Amino acid sequence: MSKIVMKFGGTSVADTDRISHVANIIKAKIDQNHKIAVVVSAMAGVTNDLIQKSKKISDSFPSDEYDALLSSGEQVTATLLAAALQKFGIKSRSWLGWQIPIVTEGDHKNSRIISVNSKVLNDCIDQDIVPIIPGFQGLTEGNRISTIGRGGSDASAVAIAKCLEADFCEIYTDVDGVFTTNPDLESKAKKIEKISYEEMLEMASLGAKVMQSSSVQKAMINDVDIYVKSTFSNNSGTKIGSQDRVSYDKVITGVAYSSDDAKVTLQGVKDKPGVASSIFKPLYENNIVIDMIVQNVSADNSKTDVTFTIKRDDLQKTTSVLEKLKEQLNFDKLLTDGHVSKISIVGAGMITHPGVAYRMFDALSSKKINIMVISTSEIKISVLIDEKNTKEAVKTIHQIFELDK
Ligand code: ADP
Ligand code: ASP
Ligand code: MG
Repeated sequence: MSKIVMKFGGTSVADTDRISHVANIIKAKIDQNHKIAVVVSAMAGVTNDLIQKSKKISDSFPSDEYDALLSSGEQVTATLLAAALQKFGIKSRSWLGWQIPIVTEGDHKNSRIISVNSKVLNDCIDQDIVPIIPGFQGLTEGNRISTIGRGGSDASAVAIAKCLEADFCEIYTDVDGVFTTNPDLESKAKKIEKISYEEMLEMASLGAKVMQSSSVQKAMINDVDIYVKSTFSNNSGTKIGSQDRVSYDKVITGVAYSSDDAKVTLQGVKDKPGVASSIFKPLYENNIVIDMIVQNVSADNSKTDVTFTIKRDDLQKTTSVLEKLKEQLNFDKLLTDGHVSKISIVGAGMITHPGVAYRMFDALSSKKINIMVISTSEIKISVLIDEKNTKEAVKTIHQIFELDK
């Protein structure tokens, strides 16, 4: 007998038939004598729909009301699933985040879970009642509803698995597991049997939305084993766990891409100490997150160009912050590009295999794809390219590193 947290994503609970199907999956686990807690997402499309409604009311919808609004999607699913289980003769009840409570800190829309009252959930499980917990939502210390960022039900599931000391956490989704790249884009992508937290964290934060990045981080810190599997097949999934339990026979593990970045270049800034900090300090003060940075070597030690990337949503804010500082920073021109995409290769195998960067760059050059910016860490290499080349770049790199084999 194991204690398991099972999380079902939006497509898995997209309509009432699917919710009944999910109830069957849970019933099968209970029939095997496992102790279960369930975390659910909103039905597919519901959260987006609520966001659209908020925009129709106001461009500056209050963030506390926004969280109360968005959290309602998960409430609907939790009640429907609890009732579906009861119909199968299984005792079950829904719990809202504030009733448990799941306490969060940080700003609305992007809060972090800091505690979950495990007692009420454990009491429920001990009475053989399956708790159905809406993901994505929590309660601020000031007693307001909070949400924890898009895709946040994954993080809710991991936080609950940790607080219940569950044996593992299962993430049920619409694909068989974590693939070498997004299977929607590359049909030759292969399912990965096991992946380390570190690699999964890179993949997730670089665009592989099959797992939300903060959930992987939480699992890594707390050593929660995760199994990603499909709601719609019985195929074995992907295990996400500690590095020492994973073997590396490939040079790289996967290719990720994201198309929510924008590139900013300041041309002709003074090449002298303190310039970089005078550019990035006001951006930091305006909560703008910087990702990749390059500074060109100046030809005559007087002026240089600085290029960096930000989230596309922050482009307007960034432009207005920098324009206001034009005199102080004394740059010649501000250039922006909102049509870029970041392609990344991830894998612990690259630590011991030389020539990985060269092979990636060569693959892109064979397709005449220009690299605008490069950034690396121990287990990833990212390049910024024109957004229109995303698919070709991912497919070419995937094939060069034989991830389809
Ligand atoms: P859920 O609603 O279950 O949380 P998501 O839509 O958040 O599901 O995540 C699953 C989706 O992630 C897949 O349908 C796929 O389109 C996408 N995806 C992106 N990269 C990968 C990858 N490397 N492996 C598997 N799926 C991926
Ligand atoms: N419903 C939320 C979203 O669409 C949270 C989730 O599904 O994980 O982002
Ligand atoms: Mg998701």
